[in-house]
Amino acid sequence: MNRIADIAARLQGYDPQALRADQANAFLDQLVAPVQGSEDVAIFGALGRVLAQDVISPISVPPHDNSAMDGYAFDGAQLAAGTALELQVVGTALAGKAWQGSVGPGQCVKIMTGAIMPAGLDTVVPQEFTQAAGEGRIAIPAGLLQPGDNRRHKGEDLQQGLPALRKGERLTPAACGLAASLGLETVNVARRLKVAYFSTGDEILSLGEAPREGAVYDSNRYTVHGLLTRLGCEVIDMGVVRDEPALLEAAFREAAASADAIITSGGVSVGEADYTKAMMQKLGDVAFWKIAMRPGRPMAVGRIGKSVLFGLPGNPVAVMVTFLAFVRPALLRMMGGSEQAPPLLRARSQEAMRKKPGRTEYQRGIVSTAADGSLQVRITGNQGSGVLSSMVQANGLIVLAHDQGNMAVGDEVQVQMFDGAI
Ligand code: AMP
Ligand code: MG
Repeated sequence: MNRIADIAARLQGYDPQALRADQANAFLDQLVAPVQGSEDVAIFGALGRVLAQDVISPISVPPHDNSAMDGYAFDGAQLAAGTALELQVVGTALAGKAWQGSVGPGQCVKIMTGAIMPAGLDTVVPQEFTQAAGEGRIAIPAGLLQPGDNRRHKGEDLQQGLPALRKGERLTPAACGLAASLGLETVNVARRLKVAYFSTGDEILSLGEAPREGAVYDSNRYTVHGLLTRLGCEVIDMGVVRDEPALLEAAFREAAASADAIITSGGVSVGEADYTKAMMQKLGDVAFWKIAMRPGRPMAVGRIGKSVLFGLPGNPVAVMVTFLAFVRPALLRMMGGSEQAPPLLRARSQEAMRKKPGRTEYQRGIVSTAADGSLQVRITGNQGSGVLSSMVQANGLIVLAHDQGNMAVGDEVQVQMFDGAI
């Protein structure tokens, strides 16, 4: 296990008091490792799981050359430039069984989409291209077809013995279908990541508690629950933990005993008069960061027992932004996933944005298509780090890079679309 001090010593220019966002990712990349353990799951239960090994194709898909169209199969060598071809229909090949007859020159077989190509035939003329040419005969006008047209080749989708899906892939609906097309009933996936989370702060109310002056309802547990569920984690909700050392200690110990990762919100800002930071320090190997970013400056990361700790700030928007920027990629790595961060889009800013060089800023954006078909983006009004409605309205985060200064109307900005993550 990598200790905080060792990772810190290896990272060039590491300054926990003014950490660049990209350095935070580089640090976390060294802190976390894929969890051990895998299980076989049925395809219907495999969506979102991460493959623990390559899926080797036991068969070729499709298993035979077959027709891509409803039409007539024939030997394409008979096609001659500039002349129509007349053929006699000698039978019908249906999907699901092989047609057994033989086909000579000047003959063809009526064939359905997916039916096995009869021996010796390599070309299919779609039904709608043909003309009737007397009893049991068709004509193919000149210039419409090349030899080999409308034939699907055996193994053109997947070849027997080759990897069809790779270790580290997160199974999408398409990947589930692909595994099923190989006849596989189960796939071997990494065990689900267990993540425990709780909110801290004496002013935080649980649902069901009566409102009182100065108190706010806990929203972070609900956003974190949703974010983790979308990632396919097993979630352990530990509620709101009050700011008392004994309660915090019990919560951290219980979380560390049961989860691969612990996520907390609140209590990590500078000058917090609470015990959260002190307890993290006491029980674990933890770094307290000030990240050069907005929103979401303070963050604690490290380990308590064998669990990785992500101590997020308390502000609701900061929680989601730091989750997306740092926690999500780290959890994906722990899940055994190998996917790259999705590419950022480029869009024209519909408004001017004040931006200080020297920190990465994440503005909540609404990306839309302009009249000329290009992408444009505007911000969702109040960008305060407590304004959760801005996250609801937004469909992506405008990422203003570390060294970037003010932006003018029409400038190109980068956007990370939420794309199902939120
Ligand atoms: P902190 O990081 O603890 O200083 O909290 C920063 C701000 O976020 C304060 O206004 C808190 O009231 C608010 N906050 C902290 N935790 C939560 C939570 N779980 N749900 C909603 N707001 C929170
Ligand atoms: Mg607090």
